[in-house]
Amino acid sequence: MSLANGRHYLAIPGPSVAPDRVLQAMHRAAPNIYTGPLVDMVEGIVPDLNRVARSSGKVAMYIGNGHAAWEAALVNTLQAGDKVLVLATGRFAKYWALMAETVGVEVEILDFGNRAPIDPARVEERLRAPDAGAFRAVLAVQVDTATSVRNDISIVRAALDAARYPGLFMVDCIACLGCDEFRMDDWGVDVMVAGCQKGLMTPPGMAFVYFNDKADSFRQALPRVSSYWDWRPRTTPDGFYQYFCGTAPTHHLYGLREALTMLLDEEGLDAVLDRHAVLAQAVWAALEAWGEGTAIESNIAPRGFRSHAVTTVRMTPPQATELREWVTETAGITLGIGLGMADDNDPAWHGFLRIGHMGHVNAHMVLGVLGAMDAGLKALGIPHGGGALEAASRVCAVAPNPPA
Ligand SMILES: *Cc1c(COP(=O)(O)O)cnc(C)c1O
Repeated sequence: MSLANGRHYLAIPGPSVAPDRVLQAMHRAAPNIYTGPLVDMVEGIVPDLNRVARSSGKVAMYIGNGHAAWEAALVNTLQAGDKVLVLATGRFAKYWALMAETVGVEVEILDFGNRAPIDPARVEERLRAPDAGAFRAVLAVQVDTATSVRNDISIVRAALDAARYPGLFMVDCIACLGCDEFRMDDWGVDVMVAGCQKGLMTPPGMAFVYFNDKADSFRQALPRVSSYWDWRPRTTPDGFYQYFCGTAPTHHLYGLREALTMLLDEEGLDAVLDRHAVLAQAVWAALEAWGEGTAIESNIAPRGFRSHAVTTVRMTPPQATELREWVTETAGITLGIGLGMADDNDPAWHGFLRIGHMGHVNAHMVLGVLGAMDAGLKALGIPHGGGALEAASRVCAVAPNPPA
């Protein structure tokens, strides 16, 4: 007997669950790539990508994952020898920094640790120092998927302005675009990177680099950008093939089109963001109940700095690994591993897990994850406070106007 038989649920922070409608939209014969519906469809995808990010700039699309977007953003704006300041709140900003180093960019990291958001005062102080004029770009991650912190991008922008910082502000929204609010224009972000496989509900394979005129002037000033990564032909194409510097990701485009229609035209972006907020609060409510008198807790204490897309959970090692394995084997749910909170061979690594609640998720999915975790805690004899499901259910019960 196994309780895991039934539909498997991948509840990790990306890739996320692709809606059946998205998968069905991809399930078709090879389309004409010279003319016709596919070509017309791509012209409509770009403005819709802008709607998701509340942006009025350009969007270059790549066949690739988040790492492709990282590299594209770097090589269109910087050259070897340039300096950047990286604001790290977890593993992902550091990975982006490492990639910058591989293209010859000099990196300085301001590290805010694994449990706190970017401190704008420290950013301002660093950028007021006499040598700060050398920074060509500041790199930040809105939601670090390892720590589940959600940085307030608007207050980071205000710190850059207060220091009269003249360079680019580049933000990674790969984890949270379409889950946590993002306002590219209002928040003065010059470059933003995203992928299709998290909040945008499409199987991994497409990456997006958003940029404004200021960022494009940095591109213009570079002596060269390799033709594949160059964002210019992709955003002002002479022919359809230039959108992707070669063959378009035909089936992915149909999937993405369906996902954008679901998010923007059917549910509506505000409702999508509200849904994520309520479901995240249900997860937090359960964690608080389990944590009553025990070591179980959300990695990020202040609610205002927690992502609505992913939650990193802290437990006494090795309980997190045991719980994750129980939930997979016995309940058919895959939870995320701890990432970057401890070395893989450090026993402390087994004290972290992550719950993905991004994209195509609803109340029964999140309550199901919490219910399975609650059963696992009981089965494994892990000390936990009671009433977690009651608490999570109360959050869902008061939707659509949950307490803040
Ligand atoms: C997932 C993720 C990435 C990496 O994306 P890949 O598709 O795995 O290359 C980068 N940054 C953040 C914040 C992410 O969540």
